Amino acid sequence: MADLIRAQRDPHSESRGDAGTGAHGNVRGEALSYVQNHLYYPVTEYEMDHGEGVHLYDTEGNEYLDCASGTFNLSLGYGHPEVVKAMRDQAERLVHTTSTFQTAPINELVRRLVEVTPPNLTKVHLKVSGGSTANEGAVKMAQIATGRRDVVTLFRSHHGQTMMTTSMSGESFRKSPFPHLMPGVLQVPDPYCLRCFYRQAGPDSCGMLCVENINDFLDHASSGSVACIVVEPVSGSGGNIVPPDGYLPALRALCDERGIVLIFDEIQTGIGRVGRMFAAEHYGVQPDILTTAKGLGGSGAQVAAIVADERMSGLSSDHHSFTYGGNILAAAAAVATLDVIGRPGFLENVREVGAHIMERLRALAARHPCVVDVRGLGLMIGIEIGDDEGRPHSDRAQALARRGMDHGLILRTSRYGRGNVIKIRPPLILTRAEADLLCDRLDALFAEEAGA
Ligand code: PLP
Repeated sequence: MADLIRAQRDPHSESRGDAGTGAHGNVRGEALSYVQNHLYYPVTEYEMDHGEGVHLYDTEGNEYLDCASGTFNLSLGYGHPEVVKAMRDQAERLVHTTSTFQTAPINELVRRLVEVTPPNLTKVHLKVSGGSTANEGAVKMAQIATGRRDVVTLFRSHHGQTMMTTSMSGESFRKSPFPHLMPGVLQVPDPYCLRCFYRQAGPDSCGMLCVENINDFLDHASSGSVACIVVEPVSGSGGNIVPPDGYLPALRALCDERGIVLIFDEIQTGIGRVGRMFAAEHYGVQPDILTTAKGLGGSGAQVAAIVADERMSGLSSDHHSFTYGGNILAAAAAVATLDVIGRPGFLENVREVGAHIMERLRALAARHPCVVDVRGLGLMIGIEIGDDEGRPHSDRAQALARRGMDHGLILRTSRYGRGNVIKIRPPLILTRAEADLLCDRLDALFAEEAGA
């Protein structure tokens, strides 16, 4: 079986179904060119057929281990039976009704989200359509609660793609085409210790300047009316930047001193990704508002939530309420997902398998010069790719990610394909044996790079 998979995946093997080659390939080639002409955004030549667990299969029967969990949202992998059953049962009963009525899945999801988030977070807002609108709602809540307006985010941050969350991005490439961004957003240096903005040696001696100096930004670069600081506890798109232990507690203290609302965007870090239900729990810090989405849907249901402290009340439905928010099918999937992730041993396995991958990747780093850093928490792992002198090398990271497909690995890179960090975020159901398969395939990919 392994040989068969390898043969199918061999880039030189005739059995591999490249678009545009062979009789079947020509049909796919035609379909691809039609799609390229008519689909608004680009797609690759791969046509996927089905998924199961951590694996995705294309129409040629090739198997891929999905290190990106779809769009980092398939916390329970492809087609988890309990999630699928919950959605199927719910679909037969009731697919949609207005969110002004109570329904059992929504009632249960509210109860469960209050239960699994930090104890100060007791107000659940479900009328959002995804991560971007959850973050936008969180900022509106902070603005209404404080009566202030500015928003502080970090360099390299990604909080979504509505116009407000685009404005909040810590990446200029996301903002450059748009003439009217939301005013009053400022970005401050992130806790990227490997390449510290303040040129410090490390968290033991730096005095946490990346928090301390936010005071200067507030005093000199803001409008003087700052509502909130929004952070991803571990940066997702930005390059899997894991903050030093004291960072988030220090940020919490700064927000308390200055009366600023602290918002954790846990859209990637939440629902078990970092080995705890939320990163807030790992770091022992309570935000005033937490947003969650992606992994909450288990096997791909579209669900998101804002969970807020009582003091953040006040955002009316007139100001933030989306048709497909509070979706009943998705709520059923989310409850099933929380059931699975909350089971004894589930998160422990995420921590153990994640630590095992990190150990194996660090061993790989010693043998493969293109790997300059390995960092992570739970199953949120980043591999920083460099040139032979250790400088960031984005082109090399993109090429490796592309060639990963030939090795049976779906890999995504940081900064939406512009960065030099390969992101390893497989479904949380990954077993140790599957983790070894993932690392063996990475080893082969990096070895090929060394010989390239
Ligand atoms: N916040 C983070 C940390 C994300 O990674 C993303 C999506 O990648 C978002 C927000 C936006 O979520 P959505 O695409 O569901 O709007």
